[in-house]
Amino acid sequence: MLRSVILAASRSSQVERLVATAPFTRDVVRRFVAGAATDDALRATRGLVDDGLAVTLDHLGEDTVTPEHATATRDEYLKLLKMLGGAGLTPAAEVSVKLSALGQLFDEQLAYDNARAICAAADAAGTTVTLDMEDHTTTDSTLEVLEKLRKDFPSTGAVLQAYLRRTESDCRELSSAGSRVRLCKGAYKEPESVAYQSAREVDKSYVRCMNILMSGDGYPMLATHDPRMIAIGEDRARWFDRGPERFEFQMLYGIRPEEQKRLVDDGYTVRTYVPYGDEWYGYLMRRLAERPANLVFFCRSLISKK
Ligand SMILES: Cc1cc2nc3c(=O)[nH]c(=O)nc-3n(C[C@H](O)[C@H](O)[C@H](O)COP(=O)(O)OP(=O)(O)OC[C@H]3O[C@@H](n4cnc5c(N)ncnc54)[C@H](O)[C@@H]3O)c2cc1C
Repeated sequence: MLRSVILAASRSSQVERLVATAPFTRDVVRRFVAGAATDDALRATRGLVDDGLAVTLDHLGEDTVTPEHATATRDEYLKLLKMLGGAGLTPAAEVSVKLSALGQLFDEQLAYDNARAICAAADAAGTTVTLDMEDHTTTDSTLEVLEKLRKDFPSTGAVLQAYLRRTESDCRELSSAGSRVRLCKGAYKEPESVAYQSAREVDKSYVRCMNILMSGDGYPMLATHDPRMIAIGEDRARWFDRGPERFEFQMLYGIRPEEQKRLVDDGYTVRTYVPYGDEWYGYLMRRLAERPANLVFFCRSLISKK
């Protein structure tokens, strides 16, 4: 219920104005977002890489409605990749891209062209791109763009969401050699017709999907903070004899950093998803919806600033 309310608010421009102008917001954002500028993203990346983590960088923004905004997002990624390459941070750092930020909602060809330019820049910098997955109305389009991109840039990765009923089948499709798949539970509000609704059903689906990916020939990226899913991931790595070069764990910036370090210390590859930029509203609301404790943190900041 609370999750649904917060996810509905994540698409309300009125609530966005309220949250964005509230005095306490900055502290909360700082916990989950590396900063507004490209330099902030680089600084956070350097710190994480020095601690033994790999990184994927996300320039915040989604649901872009003008070609100019989509092009500006593309250009920010081109700049970022050049700076990452120049700083010697590739291939430890790759980038994550939302097609809706590149124009997918109004011009799929434009989104593809923009994504292609980012893949080419990533390739030139010695790294790669993973396409984030957004709400279920975009899944087919995103997978079609992925297929086209992979013709020239075979290491381009996809995200699959375990809460969608279709995902087991998508995992089978994408578990072939060279295929990089980030498996997450899914962060959007989806109807029962397309998505499992209970946490138990989503977890069971996550394990089934993990089994397909870990027993397949691709490169699984297990994106979760859930201790049970992580323990099962460790078990499957032993079972399918996957060393740290053949799969990885992924978590979000600011979430369970001690667990990220623990996994690195145990010899696993761990990649932190680092968002930066000033369009943090949708991202922050999804993090609050996921975990009531984050909401408590948010409210505590409100009280302490009054
Ligand atoms: C790298 C990465 C990329 C992602 N990309 C996408 C994407 O492209 N599309 C998409 O829809 N979603 C994406 N997500 C979000 C994802 O779908 C989930 O919404 C999010 O990860 C929460 O699910 P969970 O597996 O962590 O576990 P949850 O079911 O949220 O939590 C399970 C348990 O994990 C632990 N836990 C969770 N959060 C915390 C916390 N903040 N602090 C301490 N313990 C915690 C708790 O023990 C909790 O009970 C991504 C997530 C990651 C990590």
